[in-house]
Amino acid sequence: MTIRQVEAIPISYQEPTDHNRFRSVCLVKISDDEGRAGWGECCTYFPEASLAARHLVDGFADRLVGRSPLETETIWLELRDHAWWYGTDAGIAAMAISGIDIALWDLKGKQLGTRVVDLLGGPVRDKLPAIASLHGTKADIGAMAEEIAAHTATGLHGAKVGFGKRGEAHLGFDHDRDIDFARRVVDAMGPGKSLMIDLGVKNFWDVPTAIQRARAFEELGVAWLEEPLGHDDPEGYAALRAATSIRIAYGERSWSPRDVERIVATGTVDVVGLDPGRVLGITGFVKSADICARSRRQANAHNFSTAIVGAASQALSFACAACYLLELQPVYGPAQKDLVDRPVWHDDGYVRLPEGPGLGIAVNEDLVAASRLDA
Ligand SMILES: [Mg+2]
Repeated sequence: MTIRQVEAIPISYQEPTDHNRFRSVCLVKISDDEGRAGWGECCTYFPEASLAARHLVDGFADRLVGRSPLETETIWLELRDHAWWYGTDAGIAAMAISGIDIALWDLKGKQLGTRVVDLLGGPVRDKLPAIASLHGTKADIGAMAEEIAAHTATGLHGAKVGFGKRGEAHLGFDHDRDIDFARRVVDAMGPGKSLMIDLGVKNFWDVPTAIQRARAFEELGVAWLEEPLGHDDPEGYAALRAATSIRIAYGERSWSPRDVERIVATGTVDVVGLDPGRVLGITGFVKSADICARSRRQANAHNFSTAIVGAASQALSFACAACYLLELQPVYGPAQKDLVDRPVWHDDGYVRLPEGPGLGIAVNEDLVAASRLDA
């Protein structure tokens, strides 16, 4: 039961949750000599990064063929060592290793007939609340509040809304509009639902702006404020932390457990975003989430990619004690709903437990072939 083939498959798809923007990832398929396949994903986002990841995965392939996929830790360590000159725990190298590592865990589970969540120690909780992951969509705030409340009315425990996105929502740029938005969404969702606000790369807040918004959002009961000062501003975050007690979220741009250790050590992050397609795979996610758990920080899977990262995020969020909820995209998107036979979803607001060996998914290879970036 050794590895026979490693394939890197860059794809591109339209993302309805992100105003139909074309997004790209590099999938990784690792096959064994008995016909099983494990799937992983490099969360590369841009086409040039997906093509670069393909070359790196191709370059790593010779190190994997003939090996046992059970050796996830050994291979993870070895690939990180190999990339020492061009990307020690960073950049496209980290993404390529992430995609390979996820595929290896999936294949390992399939070989052993065991779910990844069980290989990781089993679910640490019976129920994992789900929230909606959304972007601001409309010019009219009342219409946006209604739309968001319709999603949470399905049982979802709240909504995380991306500011600074395409379209006419124009969120994150004007204090009064932002506060009006938050107030009306909280009112529309009703009691027991959480609102999380996630700043986009187009939003630029200086520290006083971040403090002013954070204090106002805190009064409205906003559950957390994500990336209000981007991902790398320890001094700014220290000032924000001193001025408000709203939960501060960032970290999804981390490349490694070491990155996570550094931001946790600043004492300025309460909810640490972790993307298994970027933070060195399932292996890197678990090590990062352990750091969060030890430091009493919440970890939160950045589940905004295809159904493969979705399945990995599902298994990880059930297995890691620092994860308390999982974001799902309630707007129909083929990359989440059609790419696999059993996409992660919820029942009355709670994420379903993974089923079946490995990540518990069968990939729609026709859709993969039709979505190839390099076809
Ligand atoms: Mg985010």
